[in-house]
Amino acid sequence: MRHEDGAGGTLIRAVILLLTGPDSRERERLAALAQEYGAELRDFGAGQPDVLEVLLPPKLDEQACAARFRKLDSVRAALTKSEPAHLVARGEREDLTVAIRESRFGGSSFSAIAGPCSVEDYDSVLALALAVRASGATALRGGAFKPRTSPYVFQGLGRPGLEILQAVGKETNLAVVTEVLDTRDVDRVAEHADALQIGSRNMMNYALLREAGRARMPILLKRGMSATIEELLLAAEHLAHAGATDILLCERGVRSFDPSTRNLLDLAAVPVLKTRTHLPVLVDPSHGTGRADLVAPMMAASAAVGADGILVEVHGQPARALSDSDQALTPQEFHSAITTTRAVINSLGRTFVGPSQVAHTP
Ligand code: PEP
Ligand code: MN
Repeated sequence: MRHEDGAGGTLIRAVILLLTGPDSRERERLAALAQEYGAELRDFGAGQPDVLEVLLPPKLDEQACAARFRKLDSVRAALTKSEPAHLVARGEREDLTVAIRESRFGGSSFSAIAGPCSVEDYDSVLALALAVRASGATALRGGAFKPRTSPYVFQGLGRPGLEILQAVGKETNLAVVTEVLDTRDVDRVAEHADALQIGSRNMMNYALLREAGRARMPILLKRGMSATIEELLLAAEHLAHAGATDILLCERGVRSFDPSTRNLLDLAAVPVLKTRTHLPVLVDPSHGTGRADLVAPMMAASAAVGADGILVEVHGQPARALSDSDQALTPQEFHSAITTTRAVINSLGRTFVGPSQVAHTP
């Protein structure tokens, strides 16, 4: 992007500054530094008072300029064009992931999040939670608000579903993850869950990302079904910029030409993401394949490619599940699949974290 400067030359939008509450003296320092570079500072607009852009004359070294700005107290980050996602970038702000690593959602060790696609009733969710916990899951995931492709199928229990999840979480000491679909529900879902899920269909719902980020709680962000890795990282950047402290990325398959599987599970995305970001990366082989018979091998493969954990749909009676029945494992199948996955993790010298190894942090 180029803008005319007063002298008839061009200024290039070269550096983006993320600020934390600069006082007037800091603003003077920002302005003085900009003047030294012959640069112009501009507001970013659209409700982002903590972002400024620096328009630089063309021949100036943007990296050197960014490095000078970074030294100012109020500058949280100074991004150049070559670093579009910054807060989540590898080597930066790793403290963002510390809490998640110490929690039950995955991290430097490997852990499993499991549960039904939809919350159906208290008894079935409790029975499932006890079963997946006994097999080694550390968190329970179930949907109360469901994003369904057709409006004529079960849409989730809504609020009563949240109550069920919270009660079962308490009863079993499992952390609860559930999806939020609407900005208006963020506070309510946050009150009932330990982590918010942003689903594939909403990865690019930037208003929802902003609102969820403001809840300042762990967020499980699923890759959009046709989103690039760059777009996934920038969606995570939206969350981090809005205040999210703990973000988990989740590969769940992308659209492909081949109807043999529901989606094409992009396992190469895991090591690619690991080179780009410090955020933990999970894999969801259930939505990634859409077929129960493929979930166990893809769980083991996820462990082999370096994922930090898996997200798996399990149901007491898959054929009767109100959503995603084709891909749900029975608790017995989950148990056997976890046993194989654990063997892969151990063979790589990594640690499988089970429910007895995590602290209770409701
Ligand atoms: C889900 O997790 O149940 C779900 C709807 O997944 P996705 O957003 O990946 O389609
Ligand atoms: Mn599902």
